[in-house]
Amino acid sequence: MDILRTYRQGGSVFTRKVAIFDTTLRDGEQAPGIQVSPETKLIIARALEDAGIDVIEAGFPVNSPSEKRSVELIANELSISEVTVLCRPIKEEIDLCRDILRRAERTRLHLWIATSPIHMKYKLNMSPAKVMNKTIEAIRYASGKFDTVQFSSEDATRSDLDFLSGIMREAVRAGADVVNLADTVGCALPEHMALLVTEIRSAVRDRVPVGVHCHNDLNLATANTLASIRAGAKQVDVTVTGIGERAGNASLEQLAVALLFHKKHFEVETNIRPDKLGSLCDTVVREMKLKVGLTQPLIGENAFKHESGIHVHGMLNNPMTYELVDPQVLGILGKRYILGKHTGKAAVKHFLGKKGCTLAEHELEKLTEMVKEYSIDNGPLEDEDALIDFARSNGFKLEVLTNGKVQ
Ligand code: MN
Repeated sequence: MDILRTYRQGGSVFTRKVAIFDTTLRDGEQAPGIQVSPETKLIIARALEDAGIDVIEAGFPVNSPSEKRSVELIANELSISEVTVLCRPIKEEIDLCRDILRRAERTRLHLWIATSPIHMKYKLNMSPAKVMNKTIEAIRYASGKFDTVQFSSEDATRSDLDFLSGIMREAVRAGADVVNLADTVGCALPEHMALLVTEIRSAVRDRVPVGVHCHNDLNLATANTLASIRAGAKQVDVTVTGIGERAGNASLEQLAVALLFHKKHFEVETNIRPDKLGSLCDTVVREMKLKVGLTQPLIGENAFKHESGIHVHGMLNNPMTYELVDPQVLGILGKRYILGKHTGKAAVKHFLGKKGCTLAEHELEKLTEMVKEYSIDNGPLEDEDALIDFARSNGFKLEVLTNGKVQ
């Protein structure tokens, strides 16, 4: 394995297409305190399909009758995205999943088992040999019953590499069409994930796509996913807004923007429709009743908002001065500027202009200083109407612009 050589060779060794596997409805819904009805899951699934997601993990059917119904609803309705369900390597569960997916356009079984010493000993209470046997048996049983059989190793990043390589190799021999590596506790660094993907690609001789599932406990889920793509991962797990167990998973929208911004670097394509991401995030936030942080990348309230004078001045001349992507590319509209303590006169002038008003230079400077002073105790002025009211109530005589001329 020579990751540096791989990098130096540039695009030739990289896959062109990366499949997006969304687990908002499974890992995302497992997040503490989040639960949605089958009908709500269907609404989210439709939005995921609309945004170009290749594989939608609809749930873990043995969890409850409601979960079973959710998956059936989704499987029966979607026609473009592949629908998958999580399943333990147990024959009865595989049969149940097959029955649930019987009317789906395209089906995928997502078999998984933990492969790390700590999970095998303290959770599964199984020897590595037993884990290996159960896996092979289940994959052989499932193979041919679904369009795709995916095998995932839980806690892959804390597994013994020889054992992990071995189980992946045997999984493919038994009929797995995709193998997947989970950084279950979110402990990996980007270079670890890249090395792991390279190792497992070599173990399975690139006969099937290698995927990754990264958690965000070190705030590295998206970075780890990107590093995996560079190392040749052909499928990546994401969730909308990054929701998931504990600190969550790699975020779909962050991954999409990173791939968009660094298109030449990655040389990969996905089926994601960027313009649908804003409304998809809105749907998931609304339907799952999520609280989005102020500074959450791309979707937080402040993600595309500007106040400081220098930034707003730059933004008014060219919006790319302080944003890596135009929010409209993501279908995100919204307020971009507010007037506060850090405001400069360019922003005040811009706000006045939006209402067809202007002020002489010295008056503009005076108003700007007053806005700054006012906002320290009273908070920012959120829009042009608030500014006009503020200016008028402080005795400013605003001149009205008509066709660019002052009347
Ligand atoms: Mn997970």
